[in-house]
Amino acid sequence: MFPRYLINFDLPKIKKIYTDFLVVGSGIAGLYTSLKICDKGEVILLTKSKLKEGSTEHAQGGIAVALGSNDSPRLHMEDTLKAGANFCDSKAVEVLVTEGPKCVEELIKWGTKFDKIEGKYKPTLEAAHQIPRILHAKGDATGAEVERSLSKKVIKENKIIIKENSFVLDILTDHSNCYGLLTMDNKTKEIIAYLAKSTILASGGTGQLFGNTTNPKVVTGDGIALAYRGGAKIANLEFIQFHPTALYHERNPKFLISESVRGEGAILKNIKGEIFMPYYHPLADLAPRDIVARAIKDQIKKTKSNYVCLDATKIKYKFSERFPTIYKNCIEIGINPEKQYIPVAPVAHYTMGGVKTDTWGQTNLTNFYACGECSNTGVHGANRLASNSLLEGLVFGNRIAQKIKEKMNSSSIKKYKELNISYNFPRNKNKELNVIQIKENLQKLMWNKVGIIRNSSDLIEVQQKINQWKFLLLSELKSVEEFELANMLTLADLLTKSALKRKESRGAHYRKDFPDRDDINWKKYIEY
Ligand SMILES: Cc1cc2nc3c(=O)[nH]c(=O)nc-3n(C[C@H](O)[C@H](O)[C@H](O)COP(=O)(O)OP(=O)(O)OC[C@H]3O[C@@H](n4cnc5c(N)ncnc54)[C@H](O)[C@@H]3O)c2cc1C
Repeated sequence: MFPRYLINFDLPKIKKIYTDFLVVGSGIAGLYTSLKICDKGEVILLTKSKLKEGSTEHAQGGIAVALGSNDSPRLHMEDTLKAGANFCDSKAVEVLVTEGPKCVEELIKWGTKFDKIEGKYKPTLEAAHQIPRILHAKGDATGAEVERSLSKKVIKENKIIIKENSFVLDILTDHSNCYGLLTMDNKTKEIIAYLAKSTILASGGTGQLFGNTTNPKVVTGDGIALAYRGGAKIANLEFIQFHPTALYHERNPKFLISESVRGEGAILKNIKGEIFMPYYHPLADLAPRDIVARAIKDQIKKTKSNYVCLDATKIKYKFSERFPTIYKNCIEIGINPEKQYIPVAPVAHYTMGGVKTDTWGQTNLTNFYACGECSNTGVHGANRLASNSLLEGLVFGNRIAQKIKEKMNSSSIKKYKELNISYNFPRNKNKELNVIQIKENLQKLMWNKVGIIRNSSDLIEVQQKINQWKFLLLSELKSVEEFELANMLTLADLLTKSALKRKESRGAHYRKDFPDRDDINWKKYIEY
């Protein structure tokens, strides 16, 4: 048996802060949800590092939305369902594509500046979209622009209190009710309980589980792990999207070369200079991400190389103007994309599964909601359509705010004032934990054996190794690094178990020993 909470505590004895709403995470989902509910009460927004640390800040390509006169939510829905490999929740997708335009219009009203040409938005094309519908900002810095505009508004809003460097350890629950959060102040190391009428998890994905990822260091899957410990249902963790084209270089996280570069005409070639994507899929370079990632892996193997090349020398626009951030990062490693091929390889990028919610962001726990990448709303199925994730953060954050407003009168502050939770698990003390080494080994193992192509013997091997490391979950944990590693081990275990259980290949989950999709037996979620 593993402990329900990461630390032992006695609620009556620790500092308590009461508020109306708690939000975990300061990416698009957390910021937008906070702004949508703050007219109904005080919001405390907790984030484990600086406000702008998270995946949102790094999003490049843009936000998919059916705003153009030649587009419609129906077409956007068709593309989302197709990319999702017959595994999306069509009700949730309908919500995403029909409510998306209004949310994006609000984002614009609140100060997000998307790129225009001659006064008009010029959406771009990305893989598996039938028409250009991706709004972008500063060429390839859409996430940074969204984060800038939303955080500016949140800072101005006096009903939102921002707590940076607040590491959320666990949700406080009694039976299936969520009463708030147990946290550690990263600077003072003080343990503080925050108690509220509603708690919203917007803590991002799990990319750092893998040795090669585009996700920043803070993305260690804490939120999904703590929700699981608290009894929230977790679904579809085996579906990890591997982005086909990250810049091949030594640094970590890996720098993304956005799909919109291929959308604007760049072409993949192997190291011999041969075009290969038309042999793998009719959509060639703009095939769904899972297909392009596997094709690149195949070419890397066939040519005995570590990467393939992206030829962007003949794209429609001047590269340095259309993709200034990508240009700068390539130049830093000595590649000029206007003249030279960009070396690229696939890396872990996006978590399709997560905390299971209904179409209102409600989890199975009362007063506990989830949105953004940590949630599993069902919109992405087995493979997320490019640029649908920023949109998901807005649409379901907005819905959570609506739901909470409707339920406002039914949750009372009195209830949690009487809470008397304490937890005392016998833990191994003074165990020397080589956290950095175990983390590195875990990341390498997950990348090598639970990556783009999986098979049963590798997955069993990973499970055995994780079981050896699980002693860490029984130890006395004190630092953020130890808490993060405990969360990563918890998720690596669940993800590997799910990947082993799912005896088929679907979307981003590819089993060499079960290469076909099996809709008869496996069109179902794996849940914990
Ligand atoms: C390089 C890159 C490019 C991308 N490009 C695009 C794109 O063009 N279009 C698109 O739609 N999507 C894109 N994505 C995906 C998209 O950016 C993310 O899915 C989305 O931003 C997630 O938003 P979020 O608010 O759910 O999480 P995040 O933005 O990751 O924010 C999570 C927040 O939770 C906080 N947090 C985590 N754990 C804890 C804890 N224990 N305690 C307190 N706080 C915690 C983090 O510090 C952070 O503030 C990209 C992703 C990456 C990495």
